[in-house]
Amino acid sequence: MTETQKRFDKSAYIETYGCQMNVADSALMTDVLETAGFRMTEELTEASLILLNTCAIREKAEERVQSRLQQLTQLKRVRPDLVLGVTGCMPKHLGKELLDRLPKVDLFIGPDSYRHLPRLVEEAQEKPTLSLRLDDEDYSDLSPVSIEGIHAFVPIMRGCDRFCTFCVVPLTRGREKSLALRDVVRQVEDAVAKGVRAVTLLGQTVNSWHHGEDRFVDLLRAVSDIDGLARIRFTSPHPVQFGEDVFALIAERENLCPHIHLPVQSGSTRILDSMKRGHTREEFLELVELIRRHLPDVGLTTDIIVGYPGETDEDFDETLSLVERSQFDSAFMFRYSPRSGTQAYRKLRDLEIPDDVSGARLSRLIELQESISVQRFARWEGREVRVLVEGPSRRNPRNAVGKSDDGKTVILPGGPEAGDLVDVRIEKTTSHTMMAFGIEEKNAEPATEVMEV
Ligand code: SF4
Repeated sequence: MTETQKRFDKSAYIETYGCQMNVADSALMTDVLETAGFRMTEELTEASLILLNTCAIREKAEERVQSRLQQLTQLKRVRPDLVLGVTGCMPKHLGKELLDRLPKVDLFIGPDSYRHLPRLVEEAQEKPTLSLRLDDEDYSDLSPVSIEGIHAFVPIMRGCDRFCTFCVVPLTRGREKSLALRDVVRQVEDAVAKGVRAVTLLGQTVNSWHHGEDRFVDLLRAVSDIDGLARIRFTSPHPVQFGEDVFALIAERENLCPHIHLPVQSGSTRILDSMKRGHTREEFLELVELIRRHLPDVGLTTDIIVGYPGETDEDFDETLSLVERSQFDSAFMFRYSPRSGTQAYRKLRDLEIPDDVSGARLSRLIELQESISVQRFARWEGREVRVLVEGPSRRNPRNAVGKSDDGKTVILPGGPEAGDLVDVRIEKTTSHTMMAFGIEEKNAEPATEVMEV
């Protein structure tokens, strides 16, 4: 054993960037490290292993990590045994060029190599180490479930086969791999045994999950049958991969939430075609109608990209009109971010839109969606909703905070505990939050918060 290895005390700290899938991957890495005798710490300066679990979906996300790494390399001056690692999508996206760009980083690991983390950390104590290969790893025997209070995030598949032209995910996470139904059920049952009341099933195109004869609707039914589970959601589905049977099942089962996040990306068929999304504007609008026929009170949310290469004013107007017609409860709205390796980056660079144009379009879209959100939330004023309580509100611990089944944050008077299901009447709403008195406490003072973020 070398001197560096002797000083290394197996304390580890993980900082997570990006989507919920990355949060679940950090839980997976924690499991692998603890099994190998590591002690996890919340204190960065105590750790002999620091891992940044990263995202590559937008340029800004990668820039943030690079500037964080520059700060962290300073720690090596006082702690020469420190192993500094970057995991997840960013090392897979940028590959070997990171060795030159970040010479003080010891370890680069892609999303399919977490099982080998202990061995790779050992190697990195001696020389810069890279493990970026993609294979058929699904981690089905490990525990990738991340638990936050009463809520668990359960990855049911990894990777993506769709290759939308703007997206790095198929390049960084590889092809689609679904876990077996029995493995998902086992992981959810384990989470419920630890006190979990709500789960979100995760996948890049979660509704394309299939394993043997089992389809997504079969998995939903099996998870819904698990005793003690109050709420089940899934994210993110792809519009072309829904069967009507999924909406019929959600309508029938109380613990399947009428909350559907349905990424549309653009309202123009021309742009959807260029993005290779596999559906037209009209097909998307028909799907929205179908969902609302089965689930009239559905909470419908979406993702939209503004300023995709070649987007004209007319294409953007189509996006605005699709947003008007779809009446989303809320939306994640972004400016297009060119990502090396993608088809859009390789073939459409000369059609990129100037920043000031895409910025102005984004502001208009946000303004429109904000006004729709205000109306969508206001529809609930005076109505009763069932809330799954998550715990005391951070802003005012005398109040409690929870979620309605269609995914809205609700502030209610304190009293109910995390995991309780309570019926409340909505008194006031903003574009992000609903505020309630308890049914039996209608005459009490209203919750004082304006917004819970
Ligand atoms: S379906 Fe989603 S994850 Fe897959 S390539 Fe398209 S945008 Fe990326």
